[in-house]
Amino acid sequence: MKPTKRIPVAHPLLNGNEKQYVLDCLDSSWISSAGKYIGLFEEKFARFCSTRHAVSCNNGTSALHIALLALGAGEGDEVIVPTLTFISTANAVRYCGATPVFVDSEPRTMNLDPARIAGAITPRTKGIVAVHLYGHPADMDPICAIARERNLFVLEDAAEAHGALYKGRRTGSLGGAATFSFFGNKIITTGEGGMVTTSDGRLEQQMRLLKGQGMDPDRRYWFPMVGYNYRMTNIEAALGLAQLEQVEHHMAARQTVAGWYREALAPLRDVLTLPLVEPWAHHAFWSYPVVLKPESRIRAGALMAALDGDGIETRPVFIPLHTMPPYYRQGEHHPVAEHLAANGISLPMHGLLTRDDVDYIAGRLACHSALRATANSLR
Ligand SMILES: *Cc1c(COP(=O)(O)O)cnc(C)c1O
Repeated sequence: MKPTKRIPVAHPLLNGNEKQYVLDCLDSSWISSAGKYIGLFEEKFARFCSTRHAVSCNNGTSALHIALLALGAGEGDEVIVPTLTFISTANAVRYCGATPVFVDSEPRTMNLDPARIAGAITPRTKGIVAVHLYGHPADMDPICAIARERNLFVLEDAAEAHGALYKGRRTGSLGGAATFSFFGNKIITTGEGGMVTTSDGRLEQQMRLLKGQGMDPDRRYWFPMVGYNYRMTNIEAALGLAQLEQVEHHMAARQTVAGWYREALAPLRDVLTLPLVEPWAHHAFWSYPVVLKPESRIRAGALMAALDGDGIETRPVFIPLHTMPPYYRQGEHHPVAEHLAANGISLPMHGLLTRDDVDYIAGRLACHSALRATANSLR
């Protein structure tokens, strides 16, 4: 039987003041990178993250780039990044002329393993990028302790973790600076967009210079440095402000869906490992990655293809960056990340999912797993 509808893996929720604020931009003709929504969005986002400043950008990758530059990453430096992340985290390091040095994940939350950081530090190491992967905060205390001891910067890549908490503190406020993405599949979206949060006024000033072509704020059309055009538009900020007004609702919807998954997938405990939430964490559930247990002998690719036939869109867990052509080095291995990538599947996660959707997804997963188990026993 052909499924009648498709369940997308991600979907934006635009049920607040988005249309009204965007129309206001059009009606007032403030459609470019000046206008009231930019300041309002930055102010409100800084408050949301409990930081003093927030600097808007045209996407999360450019946010990473200017944050790394402002923190001092440059030619010849090394920056520690997890191998299991989206490629922007490493690319932004490369844009600065620095080299990303990859560290494996810890198996519980898939995040940068603090115990492996010390072994990756060299005299060239300048900083650490901690990614809050899939919305679960990285274990920041040990990461920041190593950084303090070795005089390194800590940058959070919080592109997937709007609203997550680490020991009661908001992601975005835990290191020297933090970056966010507002791409269409993120927890809140501006279409394309990004933000850097920091409480360091000097960093903020530096990043405003970098994202605005390097123009001297006190002398128009005087450029003391090479900058970039990484500005957000007023239309994007209008979307962002409307999204941020609803952020508690967006966050709660994801918690609800995660709760449904936990219940519906409980019978598949022998087959799947569900996302773990550390006692010190509030998970933002950008995504819902499940990991097939090796003893299930189910291949992630085959299962994703079967789910696709059921109208269920899924994503593989990120492919570790040390295996990608720009970063590949013979003999480099990170077994935890490689295992998670080979066996992980991100299930649909967004605010439009219903309990029926989740039950349907769990039902199809159970069915495919049972078929697989039978096939295995016949082998
Ligand atoms: C989405 C994402 C980015 C990049 O954000 P863009 O807005 O797409 O440039 C960076 N890091 C991580 C971990 C992401 O998930």
